[in-house]
Amino acid sequence: MKLSIVYDNEANEGFINDWGFSCLIETEDWKVLFDTGASGEILIHNLQQFGIQKEDIDIIALSHKHWDHIGGLKAVLHPGVAVCLPSSFPLGLKKHIAKKAASIVEVSEPKEIVPGVYTTGELRIVLLLTEQSLVLKTKGGEGVVVVTGCGHPGLERIFEAAKAFGKLYGVIGGFHGFKKLELLHGLELIIPCHGTIRKKEILEMYPRKVVRCGAGMVIEL
Ligand SMILES: [Zn+2]
Ligand SMILES: [Zn+2]
Repeated sequence: MKLSIVYDNEANEGFINDWGFSCLIETEDWKVLFDTGASGEILIHNLQQFGIQKEDIDIIALSHKHWDHIGGLKAVLHPGVAVCLPSSFPLGLKKHIAKKAASIVEVSEPKEIVPGVYTTGELRIVLLLTEQSLVLKTKGGEGVVVVTGCGHPGLERIFEAAKAFGKLYGVIGGFHGFKKLELLHGLELIIPCHGTIRKKEILEMYPRKVVRCGAGMVIEL
């Protein structure tokens, strides 16, 4: 399985950085885009740097409804794509997406999306706002890697939900205000992205496990 960071607050050369998050998960048979960043133009530019056209994407999974995660959606919707989103999304938005996609998959409980890729199900943040995270099984059987959007529910809760799919091996994405950094102990791969407030402390605490995030980064799992 391959994971490419498409949209992030930081970027490698040739890619544009912006506040938001998106990554592309490629399994043997499927291309899953997780979140779409804030701007469609930047999203498309960065996808093109990877040689990806919107028609190549089979599934778009959205973590939560904040603009820096769904702002680029319109630019990648196409008639062949399935959109997997938390059931808490506003009805009007669901209807709008349904018109431009092949199907909508509403998520509430944890489940498999495609082989090797799972959702934690929606975790409630506040009334009317929930967030789902993805869980990826590594090819070598080391365990599971959690992929978060903003990380609003807190990594503690997200990890608890992800453990249903295997031993925690790594975490990639927005850690938001997460501060119980000792909970990262035992993970082999830590990639704090997007709005992670304690990036510097995490790097200092786990220098051998942390990989620097940025649009353009690719990792094999
Ligand atoms: Zn958010
Ligand atoms: Zn965010």
